[in-house]
This record gives sequence, structure tokens and C-alpha cells, in this order.
Amino acid sequence: MSVSYWLDTSRSNSAIDVDVCVVGAGVAGASACYWLAKEDPNLSIRLIDKGAVASGATGRNAGFITCGSVEHFHRLCEFRGKEEALKIWQFSEENLNLLRSEIIENCELNIGFEEKGSFSLASTEEELAGLKHTAELMDEFGIHVEMVDEPGVRSRVGAEDFVGGIKYCDDASVHPVKLVEAILERTSLIAKDFKVLPFHEVYSIEEQDGRQEIKTQKVTLNCDLVVLGTNAYSKVLFNYFEDKIYPTRGQILMTEPVAPFMEGPCYANFVLDYFRQLPSGEMIIGGFRQLQKDSEIGYDDQTSPVIQSALEEFLQKHVPAIRGKKITHRWAGIMGFSADGQPMIGALPANNQVYFLGGFTAHGLGLAFHSGKCLTDMIFGREIPEFISARRFS
Ligand SMILES: Cc1cc2nc3c(=O)[nH]c(=O)nc-3n(C[C@H](O)[C@H](O)[C@H](O)COP(=O)(O)OP(=O)(O)OC[C@H]3O[C@@H](n4cnc5c(N)ncnc54)[C@H](O)[C@@H]3O)c2cc1C
Repeated sequence: MSVSYWLDTSRSNSAIDVDVCVVGAGVAGASACYWLAKEDPNLSIRLIDKGAVASGATGRNAGFITCGSVEHFHRLCEFRGKEEALKIWQFSEENLNLLRSEIIENCELNIGFEEKGSFSLASTEEELAGLKHTAELMDEFGIHVEMVDEPGVRSRVGAEDFVGGIKYCDDASVHPVKLVEAILERTSLIAKDFKVLPFHEVYSIEEQDGRQEIKTQKVTLNCDLVVLGTNAYSKVLFNYFEDKIYPTRGQILMTEPVAPFMEGPCYANFVLDYFRQLPSGEMIIGGFRQLQKDSEIGYDDQTSPVIQSALEEFLQKHVPAIRGKKITHRWAGIMGFSADGQPMIGALPANNQVYFLGGFTAHGLGLAFHSGKCLTDMIFGREIPEFISARRFS
């Protein structure tokens, strides 16, 4: 984005002077604000977004807070080795523990938080064999899982045409926008000077005399430290992200409510597709971006007929309770994928006072809160795990 002289109204407002500006009010930016305020409540912090709070991927996701990564655990062990795969799993387990202890237990808002675990369903004997392998490895590491047979899938989550599945007993789900509101509310209670500036698109961040100058069309901010929580949109601000965080579209549809029938949220097809019933009875289903790999890359947040039809067909085929039910909502959002599926936390090589966290690869609710803590560790000179450090790409 560039802004003409005529449209730049920031000159008529005096510049805002603060310690830290966090750009991007999704779950990552909100988490960064929380942990920075917790580290030093005297920091003055501004959280800036081009749209409303959580208007990016955070406000468009399915609300699964799942442990692990984009791969079944046995595949993660194959690619990364058992030791690192376990560290990756434990990182996301700790994300949920931290959300519980720091936010949810202290929260008076109803954020739709449910701890029902999650299921991964197999359509083929081959995928089921992989899930059994995952279960064996998890037993070895003391992670709480349960294999479910075909009748079990039918009776516990109301899904047909699967040969079986696994239940990850410790997963959770949430209303993602309410979660961000809860994180921001907790931050306001801790920080002496914290404000959110929605509808302020940042178009330039530059170092000026040792400080950072952030420009929006309405106001200029000067600060010592910048945190980018802009995820998929990061490369619009800095070229550095061009080959590191890839904008990838995800799509969802929602049906009218039906009586509760699912024990917990479900994944299918190697974690690519997912469906869950909300506490209020509506069903949401997302995924199928594998059908249109090329058009699912980029910033267009329209839904596409091909993927929406596939989502409908999936529900018709696999979830009898939903047959004939009205579809009430369809939407899409833009996620930030990293090259190896793990988050990226670091500082820009060209300006080491601009930090970032992103690349959550469809798992931001399961990763971003803990990542915000690690980002704060990094800013304050403490070590962070190598598998989330941006150093791994340099
Ligand atoms: C359909 C779909 C389903 C998903 N389901 C799940 C799920 O069930 N569980 C899960 O864990 N994850 C899921 N995800 C992924 C999850 O939503 C993301 O990983 C997570 O929201 C990333 O959070 P974020 O804060 O990094 O990014 P975002 O939420 O995208 O936040 C980035 C923010 O930066 C702002 N911004 C960008 N550029 C600028 C600028 N120049 N100036 C000011 N502001 C700017 C944007 O407006 C946006 O609000 C899903 C995503 C989609 C799209």
C-alpha cells in the first residue's frame, strides 16, 4: 500500500510516542501484547490493525485448539526424529496450559471454551494404520490418546464411512474472536498504558534516529520496538517474508443448528478437512484446499464454488444428522503458512528492533499464545526453541 500526499491526514495529528507498537490484532498480536505487558506493566503499548480486532484469519477460523502440527504425529517423528517431534507437541500442549492458566481461568467473558478433545478420522486402512502408529508413539510418551473403531466413530461423532480414528483427549475448542477479546481484556488489566487502534492500516515502518516510525494514513507513531503480528500479510510490509510466510486461503461453511450429537471436533483426510458442532448446535466444516491448490494461494478472501461444493458433499456423505439442513454462512480467510509448518519468531535482519511472530500454518490457536511468550523471551534476551526461531531459515 502507498498513500498519496492528499490522502495522508496524519500530518494534521500530532505523532503518538510509545514504547512498543504491535501491528496486527489477531491472536498472535494480542498474545504478544499480553506477554509484553506481563513482562513490564510500565511499557506503553499500541496494538494497530487495518481492520477490526480479529478481522484476519483469527476471526474466520474453526476454533480448534489442537496440539501438534499439520502432520499426524508418526509422520512428524519420521521427518523430525522422535525427540524433536515430542518438543513440537509439548510446545502446543503448553500453549493450551498457558491459555487456561493466564486467560481462561481469569476470564468472565463466555468464550465458548470446551475441552472435549478432538478426533482424527481415517477413510482408509492405510491412514488408520498410521493413526495406530501415532497412538503407540503417544503411549510411549505418556500423551493421552484413544483409538476409536468404526462403530465408535458412528456413535460418538455421528460420522459415517470412516474405518476408525483416534481421539486426542486433551484438545479444546473456542470462539476465536471472544478468545482474542479475553486476551486483550487481561492485557488492559495488567498494562498501565495499552490501547487498540483498529482501522489503521500501517503502510510504512522505518528507523528514524534510532527509533521506529510507523505510518498510517491517520496517524504516525514513534516507538522503540515494533512487533509484527501480520502473519500472511507480512510480505506486503517487508520483502524479507516473500519466501518465508505464504498467504494461503482456507474456507468454511456453516449449517443451521441441530440437536447436539458430536462428542468432539473432528479432522479427516490427514488433518486437511475438519468439522465441529458449536455449543449452540450449528455445524461448521472447512478444508478441501487441496482441490484447488493454485487458487488457494494469495489474498483473495472470496469463497470458491468448487471448494464450497466439496464441503457440502462431505457433510451429505459423512454426517447424516446434517442432511437437508440449511447452509447459513460461507466464508474464507487468509492464513500464513511457513515452509516447514512451524511458527517463525525473530527480528528483521535489516532492522533488529522490528520483531515478528507468524507462519502458524493453520494452527494459530494451538500455537500463537505460547509463541507470544517466546517472542517476549527473545526480546528480553532469553533463548527460544530452535524449531520456532526464524534463524532456521537464514
Ligand atoms: C478457514 C480457516 C480455518 C482455520 N481453522 C483453524 C482452527 O480451527 N484452529 C487453528 O488453530 N487455526 C485455524 N486457522 C488458522 C488460524 O486462523 C491462524 O493460524 C491464526 O488466526 C493466525 O493468527 P495471526 O494473529 O497470526 O494472524 P491474523 O489473524 O491473520 O492476524 C493478522 C492481522 O494483521 C492485520 N494486518 C495485516 N497487515 C496490516 C497492516 N499493514 N496494518 C495493520 N494491520 C495489518 C490484519 O488485518 C489481521 O487482523 C484457520 C484459518 C482459516 C482461514
